[in-house]
Amino acid sequence: MLIHDREVKGIDVDEETRCLHYHSEVDRIAIKFYCCDTYYPCFSCHEEEAGHAPQVWPKTQFHQKGVLCGFCGYELTIDEYLTGSSSCPSCKSAFNPGCSLHEHLYFEV
Ligand SMILES: [Zn+2]
Ligand SMILES: [Zn+2]
Ligand SMILES: [Zn+2]
Repeated sequence: MLIHDREVKGIDVDEETRCLHYHSEVDRIAIKFYCCDTYYPCFSCHEEEAGHAPQVWPKTQFHQKGVLCGFCGYELTIDEYLTGSSSCPSCKSAFNPGCSLHEHLYFEV
């Protein structure tokens, strides 16, 4: 699925990066996986499609862009995402605050 000119892999991905697993109104980010430099909507999509074990982003790389806003296509750095207020700095769309429960699956904590 091509979203704002970025390739987002995953299962049943819609135009704002919702997927089979997470598809509420505010589920509108994709996260780039450090292991394969590929955007997926969630860790379950990666688990089912990637064919390899995930690797989390090391803290030294948090200045890199790793989160895609499915609404406007803005790419957040990981620092920006982790220190932000569950919304897009560019278009102000709300992100799912529940994602913070899963941060350890994507980022070194
Ligand atoms: Zn991967
Ligand atoms: Zn998913
Ligand atoms: Zn946005």
